[in-house]
Amino acid sequence: MKTVVYCNPFVPAEWIEAHGLRAEWIVPEHAAKHAEPAAVRGMCPYAQAVLDAVADSGSPAGGHALAVLTTACDQMRHGAGMLADAGREDIFVLNVPSTWQSPGSRDYYAAELTRLGRWLIARGATAPSAERLARAMRDNDAARDRFRKGTIPTDAPSWCNPVAVELARRIATTDGGGIAVGLIGSPLLPHDLAIARAVVEAGGRIVFDGTCGGPRTLPEPFEPSAMAANPFDELVRAYFDAIPAVFRRPAAQLDAWVARAMEQYRPAALLCLRRVWCDLWHAALPRLRETAGVPVLDLDLDDEQEGGQQRVTSRIEALFESIRDRAATHALPPDG
Ligand code: SF4
Repeated sequence: MKTVVYCNPFVPAEWIEAHGLRAEWIVPEHAAKHAEPAAVRGMCPYAQAVLDAVADSGSPAGGHALAVLTTACDQMRHGAGMLADAGREDIFVLNVPSTWQSPGSRDYYAAELTRLGRWLIARGATAPSAERLARAMRDNDAARDRFRKGTIPTDAPSWCNPVAVELARRIATTDGGGIAVGLIGSPLLPHDLAIARAVVEAGGRIVFDGTCGGPRTLPEPFEPSAMAANPFDELVRAYFDAIPAVFRRPAAQLDAWVARAMEQYRPAALLCLRRVWCDLWHAALPRLRETAGVPVLDLDLDDEQEGGQQRVTSRIEALFESIRDRAATHALPPDG
């Protein structure tokens, strides 16, 4: 079965599977290795790493996979344009509007999925039926429920971001002690799990994962009666209307998600894991601070300079120290 790789939550795995293909969330290599060529092009190293991985995926070594990139951020849009200019016909660029409140934007996204379907069929995929789409939606909904709870097995479906699956498992099995922190930000790569270790070693615990590719960016559960009536419309609703991504305007969905997570998990701080030069998360920081109402630590990932990981660890330790100091001050009896 041919594989379609992607790494954006607005690419519905069900739509690919309904065409008889295998959907796979691609995890590129360590992004810092791509920092130098990325800097030359003025791109974030993660975007560069994804583009390099996608460029390789269509080769014989990559199993001649097809790839879907999106226009969710300028850097990806720019990179996808470069690959298209290079004549890569195995790469599809899905336009995802940043505005989400108008029916016109939603219709545009639906039309883009239809265009993706035609492109897949032109490359040997089978035309989807409503039954096949609905079956894929039901199966994936059940797997997503386990993903959110951190109970997904090690052989998680290929459309799951494996790093986020591993983190969800760690969150679900961490005991209740230590300073609670939430994560938010850019997609994680395998080496970023060192941050989860640093949090635990500094005396903390992660209570939610709001990074891209984790539970925050899963589509909403499908509504059974809507799915029975028209699975494609329900697919569009659950993805386009519901995913609180950082590039969406206005930013009310992301604000609401953060407010809900703060209310539910009551973390003492938020760690914003921001891939270096990611303008979107950088611009989101002031609103995050306002909405979260707790300290927000802005952590640059992909710091390829010597001691980069140690710097991240030291900043987490310093944050926890200040939280402990504040708690101790509040616990003091009033003067006199
Ligand atoms: S990390 Fe930011 S700049 Fe890089 S690809 Fe993702 S959204 Fe774009």
